[in-house]
Amino acid sequence: MEKYVLAIDQGTTSSRAILFNKEGKIVYKTQEEVACLFPKEGWVEQNALDVWLSVLNVINDCLTKMNITYDNIDSIGITNQRETTIIWDKKTGMPVHNAIVWQSRQSVEICNSWEQYKELIHKKTGLILNPYFSASKIRFILDNIENGQQRAENGELLFGTIDTWLMYKMSKGKIFKTDVSNASRTMFFNINTLKYDDKLLEIFNIPKKMLPKVVESSGDFGEASFLHKGLKICGVAGDQQAALFGQRCFNEGEIKSTYGTGCFMLMNCGTKPVLSKKGLVSTVAWKINGETHYALEGSVFMAGASIQWLRDQLKVIDKASDSEKFATSVDDDLGVYVVPAFVGLGAPYWDNECKGAIFGLTRGASKEHVIRSVINSIAYQVRDIADVMCNESGVCGVALKVDGGATANSYLMQFQADILNVDIILPECLETSALGAAYLSGLGSGFWKDIDEIKALKKESKKFTPIMSKEERDRRYNKWLKAVEVARMFK
Ligand code: ADP
Repeated sequence: MEKYVLAIDQGTTSSRAILFNKEGKIVYKTQEEVACLFPKEGWVEQNALDVWLSVLNVINDCLTKMNITYDNIDSIGITNQRETTIIWDKKTGMPVHNAIVWQSRQSVEICNSWEQYKELIHKKTGLILNPYFSASKIRFILDNIENGQQRAENGELLFGTIDTWLMYKMSKGKIFKTDVSNASRTMFFNINTLKYDDKLLEIFNIPKKMLPKVVESSGDFGEASFLHKGLKICGVAGDQQAALFGQRCFNEGEIKSTYGTGCFMLMNCGTKPVLSKKGLVSTVAWKINGETHYALEGSVFMAGASIQWLRDQLKVIDKASDSEKFATSVDDDLGVYVVPAFVGLGAPYWDNECKGAIFGLTRGASKEHVIRSVINSIAYQVRDIADVMCNESGVCGVALKVDGGATANSYLMQFQADILNVDIILPECLETSALGAAYLSGLGSGFWKDIDEIKALKKESKKFTPIMSKEERDRRYNKWLKAVEVARMFK
């Protein structure tokens, strides 16, 4: 009987279930949208039961469409949208509040009240004080439900990120765990000791009782008895870390970049955490067989989203893929530079006030040039982060492994190779988070013996090699830096 690893990829917009075979290839994949709720400006929530139901639905669909049973499933791997916070009643298993999604800004004021602990938080957790991470979301829920703090202190409430919530539900409340990669996004997990930090919990006034046990990313998490007796969950990691694993960035210095709505770049920085001085986040990549790998992470807010802006606001393209057609219909950007700081700038600038700008317009500049320049801006922003990573880790010039929707744009990929002066490697399987979760689970269950066996799995990929001269690269990139500098002055 053929066996598969079932990967669950619970993302912000959809839940996916993907079956991987022993060769690490996708044999079936299915997805279901999950609604986001926007109760107020800047707030993003989800119904946690809907999230759970969507996962059940995609699992059922996999089994039905493939005409297989749970006996064909070796193990389950879970990867998930990170930081999203759920609190539920221990007795009933019912959420006491909507899940607060990572993007939500509703706990900004709580974070502002912790401003004096910024340095301490960075030193202990590797993170930047920000409402993205779970701590202030937990605080928000406890402060906004009846007797929240008291109930948490009495041990009546449990907290989990999506991984914990799904495992809890799949096991009928038996598994209450999270993996190190997800724990490292809570803002109270000490990445040096790999334990919840008592001092930070005291500052945030979060009772330890409500927190899941932190375990390695690969191994026996327990039985998904709600689904099937004996079926094990054997791998868990946050989506970006899972993608790093799925891209097989197993060694120090290897980097992946995901080009979705935003762009997430992670570098495996080995077995010791590297703290960034230039606004990158340090995070746990995974822990396997007692060995922890850390990552440096930088994010660009506007990557594919700036293509959406061309489509929905400027209305110069009908669909995202048109961007490439228009961009390549002209020979050059004609000196036009777009700084897509529509929501401020992320790493390494961290400038919330900066607004978007277009520079270098002349009479000959057309929509094609603007479109081309918007695509270029994605590549320049990635270079900004890559340069910081190279500075802070000392590892430079390594090929970049890429995934995400915007990698469909070959013009972008070639320009990225040119601006970074490194090879860009695009894998055949773009479901890298799910693949990473499957690898972790298969390693934990013994489906794959060890990392060497995974390395030996055949993997097709496409490569983009730099062809731009050094002079041209430097000239273009320096001009980008100048454009950002001037945009930041316009306040
Ligand atoms: P997410 O996981 O963040 O929802 P995806 O990985 O699904 O994102 O990628 C979707 C993003 O990729 C969208 O922002 C879209 O504008 C962008 N995108 C899709 N196709 C192209 C293309 N051919 N060229 C440029 N951007 C694209």
